[in-house]
Amino acid sequence: MSDALVDAVKARIRNVPDFPKPGIQFKDITPVLADARLFSDCVNWVAGQYAGEYVDQVIGMESRGFIFGAAVAPQLHAGFIPARKPGKLPWNKISETYDLEYGSNTLEIHEDAFKPGDKVVVVDDLLATGGTAAATVALCRKAGAEVLGCVFLVELGFLDGRSKLDVPVHSLVVY
Ligand code: AMP
Repeated sequence: MSDALVDAVKARIRNVPDFPKPGIQFKDITPVLADARLFSDCVNWVAGQYAGEYVDQVIGMESRGFIFGAAVAPQLHAGFIPARKPGKLPWNKISETYDLEYGSNTLEIHEDAFKPGDKVVVVDDLLATGGTAAATVALCRKAGAEVLGCVFLVELGFLDGRSKLDVPVHSLVVY
C-alpha cells in the first residue's frame, strides 16, 4: 500500500525548475491535492503515523502545511494550530526567524496556542533544509508544548533537513 502510494505521489508531483529562484527545483504538490483519491490516501498516511497515539494538537505551517495539517487533525481527534507568516495573527504572539532553502522567513503562533504539556505533531508538505520545521518545533516548546514528531509528504533527503530536528521524522516520499 505504502509503496504504491509513494509511486503514485511521485508520478503526480510536478517538478518546476528555477522556481521561485534559479537553482531551486520546486516540488509542486497541487496535482496531488487535485486527485481526490490520492489526496485522501496521503491524508490517511500522514494521520496513520500517529494513529492510536494521544495527540492534543496538530500544527501546520503556512501555507501548504495548513492543507495537510487541517485535514489530518480531526482524524487524530486533535485540534489544529496554524503557524503563520508575520503580521497575520491578531493576538499576542511568539515568533521565530529561520533560514529557508530560498531566503529567510518568520513564523508566529499565538502565545496561548497550547496548554502546558500539550502533545503536538508538526505537519508540512515538504522538508527541505529543515529550518521551517525546526523553527516550528522551537515555537511549540516556547509555548510550553511537547513535540511528538514531524510528518511530511515529501523530504529532500540530500538537504539533510532531518539533522536539524531532534524529534522523530516521518516522510512518505524521499528524494
Ligand atoms: P525548509 O525550511 O528549507 O525545510 O523548507 C521547507 C518549507 O519551504 C516547506 O514549507 C515547503 O513547502 C517549502 N519548500 C522549500 N523548498 C521547497 C521545494 N524545493 N519545493 C517545494 N516547496 C519547498
